[in-house]
Amino acid sequence: MSAAPAVAEAATLHVEAGALAGFVRAIVAATGCGPEEAEEVARHLLEANLQGHDSHGIMLVPRYVQHVREGKLHPGAAPTPVRQDASLALFDGNMGYGQHVGRIAMDWAIGAARAHGHAVMGLRNVHHIGRVGTYGEQAAAAGLISVHFVNGVSGPPAVAPFGGSDARLSTNPVCITIPPAREGDAPLVLDFATSAIALGKCRVAFNAGRAVPEGALVDATGQPTTDPGVLYRDTPRGALLSFGAHKGYGLALVCEILAGALLGGATAWRPEMRERGIVNSWLAFVLDPSRFGDPGAFRAELAAVIADVKASPPADPDSPVLVAGEKERITKAQRLAGGVPVDATTWGNLVAAARSLGINDVPVAR
Ligand code: NAD
Repeated sequence: MSAAPAVAEAATLHVEAGALAGFVRAIVAATGCGPEEAEEVARHLLEANLQGHDSHGIMLVPRYVQHVREGKLHPGAAPTPVRQDASLALFDGNMGYGQHVGRIAMDWAIGAARAHGHAVMGLRNVHHIGRVGTYGEQAAAAGLISVHFVNGVSGPPAVAPFGGSDARLSTNPVCITIPPAREGDAPLVLDFATSAIALGKCRVAFNAGRAVPEGALVDATGQPTTDPGVLYRDTPRGALLSFGAHKGYGLALVCEILAGALLGGATAWRPEMRERGIVNSWLAFVLDPSRFGDPGAFRAELAAVIADVKASPPADPDSPVLVAGEKERITKAQRLAGGVPVDATTWGNLVAAARSLGINDVPVAR
């Protein structure tokens, strides 16, 4: 196992959430969006930070700015249907902002699932859709269950197949959400990359001069390492590993097939797809739980199942058993109160992106 080189950890600054949202909204608007789209993209990114997923938050903005300049991301684009019937649709995202295009596509799926009990929605050719849980939360807020398979191509592949020694896939996320048992409760939001850790978390660690956890990375010779520099500094590059050995790899492969191949989207094996910025493809299933039987009985059983798992005595008395989505809600409450932590490198990159667009009104970061 090779360890991360000893580098001074970059300072962490804190920025008040509202001020950060306004700053990001201004930057996104300056790339050419209308105010509503800019607000939607900024809100999505900030929510990722608030929930603790910094890899899918404001850190991405300089890359988005660069992709707009390079003609790879099209502000103002909306999804157009490729095929559509009452409960199944395939949309082309026209390489628009994924946070905006994705919300519109999900609105369609929610409407169709309400009308018909279920909907299947495919979206291809869209720029980065961000934190997939956002769309699951959108379905859960409408009282619907949702299941999402997503694949991505953003430059050379980053994840090695189980038993392989070089990268062939992306961090292909899976998300499943279930609406709450009781009005006012939170939904279950299971939402993760199939890599051992999200690629963006390696970038966050690299920017901050930190090591990543063991079991997440191999270097270019296939040896385990905790140094994220193998992805960003070394040539040839190292690779991320899937979570859960062959099981996570299996899910990543299924995402590649169900989202990328089935929908006619970008697949990682095609070198010509790697120069297009960040391209996601996404297959979503949305279900109305009331179509399977008495919704009250389901909600009661859901509450009982959750109460039962949470009643397990914690192995560590300071860490009670959580269910999916809970950790994010705890983190959000902390960050709303204490500010959003941003490492100095990420902050410098964000401010430089803003200045390059003529935005000099920078919020206080301390
Ligand atoms: P992660 O490893 O932090 O796992 C998050 C999931 O695990 C959440 O559902 C969370 O509630 C649950 N969880 C965490 N701790 C828990 C605990 N103690 N008990 C029970 N459940 C717990 O997430 P990740 O893999 O780093 O993914 C981060 C984000 O990156 C996701 O939102 C994902 O959608 C996004 N992503 C997007 C893309 C893309 O191409 N658009 C690619 C990869 C990842």
